[in-house]
Amino acid sequence: MHHVLVVDDDAAIRGIVAEVLSDDGHAVEAVESAEQALERLTKGGIDLVITDIRMSGMDGLSLLKEIRRNDNILQVIIMTSHGTMDSAVGALKSGAYDFLTKPFENLEIISTTAKRALDAVKMAREKVLLVATLTRNNEELERMNNFFRDLAIKDGLTNLYNHRHLQEALTVEVERSKRYKRDVSVLFIDVDYFKTYNDTQGHPAGDEVLRSLAKILLEHARDADTVARWGGEEFVILAPETSAEQARELAERLRAAVSAFPFQGRETQPNGLITISVGVATLDPNGSHESLVSRADAAVYEAKAAGRNTVRVAPSDSPEVSTV
Ligand code: GH3
Ligand code: MG
Ligand code: MG
Repeated sequence: MHHVLVVDDDAAIRGIVAEVLSDDGHAVEAVESAEQALERLTKGGIDLVITDIRMSGMDGLSLLKEIRRNDNILQVIIMTSHGTMDSAVGALKSGAYDFLTKPFENLEIISTTAKRALDAVKMAREKVLLVATLTRNNEELERMNNFFRDLAIKDGLTNLYNHRHLQEALTVEVERSKRYKRDVSVLFIDVDYFKTYNDTQGHPAGDEVLRSLAKILLEHARDADTVARWGGEEFVILAPETSAEQARELAERLRAAVSAFPFQGRETQPNGLITISVGVATLDPNGSHESLVSRADAAVYEAKAAGRNTVRVAPSDSPEVSTV
């Protein structure tokens, strides 16, 4: 059942229109001014307003404009008198669905015009629902897309990039840096005595350490850096536009941040702390992404040999480039 509001200061007209639409099976309410109509509309539930154009107080056109300010669904039919064609056209331009001319030629015209307007309301409502459903579906699809993309390129434990994605990023970045003669550096990070930590604190606590480490790495890296879990307790940061000296400084900040972090159970570690050893390498003019990582990895071994909790920078491979 549709709800129709009839607005006219002429009681006879209100009566006729209300009776016709009630006979058609609609729920009809009638008021005698635009002000009363607005008051009624705030309570909601009205599908169609049929209003006189000329009334004492607010007129039909102003009522229409007021309705359109916050409702694009409910329809408005304007009733005009013969000879006021101009205002009828103005009403249509302002968003009225149609107009009826008084006195009515026949009552059938009220029924059919109201029916068409109510069909339009129904369709507009269905469109809103459809758009809402489509929007929801799209959002869901995007969430799924993101989920699967993350699944392919992220590490499940730390949510850092995985080994495979890092390899791709390395290839791209090394290629770009060589072509434009830019610096690119890699930090290879290995947790010191992590086997000991697992053995004394348990594997789940070890996992927690890896997750916290991931957060520390992300906090210190720049947005353009790729922070990845290489595997096990080893991490790699690929840092574009980063010189050997800048990379060494980043590595040193990381080393200090990790050794200062109050990891649970760290007191049972050999030096009473969870620490990392970091190897730094910067791309040589003739280097490859493989050699970049292997030099950083070799530098980690130097750092381990030097007592751990240490940063080491890999010497350059290319004779024409001075070592750092
Ligand atoms: P070093 O200072 O020489 O690096 O000593 P280390 O004990 O860290 O080196 P090692 O390679 O012998 O041990 C690495 C340990 O990391 C072994 C393994 O139990 C642990 N590990 C690797 N992956 C994970 C993981 O996903 N979760 C946990 N909890 N432990 C892991
Ligand atoms: Mg290791
Ligand atoms: Mg280790």
